[in-house]
Amino acid sequence: MFQAFLIKYGEIGIKGKNRHLFEEALMQQIRHALKDVDGEFEVTREQGRIYVEAAAELDYEEALERLQRVFGIVGICPVVIAEDKGFEKLAEDVIAYLKERYGGRPMTFKVQTRRARKDYPIPSMEVNAALGERILQAFPQMKVDVHQPELLLNVEIRKKINIYSDVIPGPGGMPVGTSGKGTLLLSGGIDSPVAGYMIAKRGVTVNAVYFHAPPYTSDRAKQKVVDLAKIVARYAGPITLKIVNFTEIQMYIYEKCPHEELTIIMRRYMMRIAEHFAKESASLGLITGESIGQVASQTMQSLAATDEVCRMPVYRPLIGFDKQEIIDVSERIGTYETSILPYEDCCTIFVAKHPVTKPNVKVIRRSEEKLKERIDEMVKTAIETAETVEVE
Ligand code: ATP
Ligand code: MG
Repeated sequence: MFQAFLIKYGEIGIKGKNRHLFEEALMQQIRHALKDVDGEFEVTREQGRIYVEAAAELDYEEALERLQRVFGIVGICPVVIAEDKGFEKLAEDVIAYLKERYGGRPMTFKVQTRRARKDYPIPSMEVNAALGERILQAFPQMKVDVHQPELLLNVEIRKKINIYSDVIPGPGGMPVGTSGKGTLLLSGGIDSPVAGYMIAKRGVTVNAVYFHAPPYTSDRAKQKVVDLAKIVARYAGPITLKIVNFTEIQMYIYEKCPHEELTIIMRRYMMRIAEHFAKESASLGLITGESIGQVASQTMQSLAATDEVCRMPVYRPLIGFDKQEIIDVSERIGTYETSILPYEDCCTIFVAKHPVTKPNVKVIRRSEEKLKERIDEMVKTAIETAETVEVE
């Protein structure tokens, strides 16, 4: 029954020039989201609103599902389009719509007409009253309530006439592409995909880096990360994923440095390498899935020790989340099932029984001195041999 969607978006902070950028980015994201959905959608902007109209038979369920993943959308109104063939025909169409959509359920209602086309012969107020009357005749069990109606029936008169009454919630946030780019350290765990989702929700375009340690981590572990990137990409749009072979560096650290410092030193090298790719892709920051106190390597002291090697800001969208809160988001966005698949993780393999929880940066730097001989060359090789996967 529906042939179009009216898209509602938040307007806070998008005044002036920003508004135009916001709308352009939102339209682009909508087009991308609907690219392979049946309906030949046309996305247009008129008078501060965005319309998505199907030129062909549309897959309504799929289109709606996709739109519900586009950041920046606050509400989605499915629209029925009627020809403008006079008031009688309009009244018939409205009654047919209400019958099909609500089956004549008793409810209070209000008609809200907008004449976007000012040459329409009947003023909005009169359309409201006349339509209201017809609705009451057709459905005597319904009642008018102009203050708090259960059903707000919108009728917009333009070249054709739009009829809609539902507002389905969108994900909110900012359209991806309006806030610059960030580089996500993406592992196979629960947290980092959620961190990627959350930063994308603020309009940030996401690139990702995964540190792989074959043969200690398997091809399946790598595939799991690609799969997670795919799920995040449903919300964030296309993601360029760099897969870095980290084995040599990890072994070298293991060989030269105190084992209880392994995790923190490894993390510092991950950050350094990630920052290289971040710069290369013009990212403005690094993103991780860390939250204070979750594990030994995520105390404030540990986070300070990892930050120390970065010039770029490190964003940690989950910083104040409890594990259960992170799990709740991951279930909602669909990454959880993949995240909990039991493949090994490069950080857990060499992990010490008693890792330092309050690393002293000076001590860590001194330990890293022991890597002096070969580490630069190893980092260079890791960067040069990284594999690039374009994830859609
Ligand atoms: P996650 O569920 O995201 O793996 P975690 O609780 O297992 O998180 P850690 O293993 O301590 O936490 O990792 C902390 C953060 O460091 C991760 O959220 C991620 O951003 C990054 N990270 C860890 N391991 C890797 C890896 N192999 N490749 C890329 N990033 C990683
Ligand atoms: Mg992990």
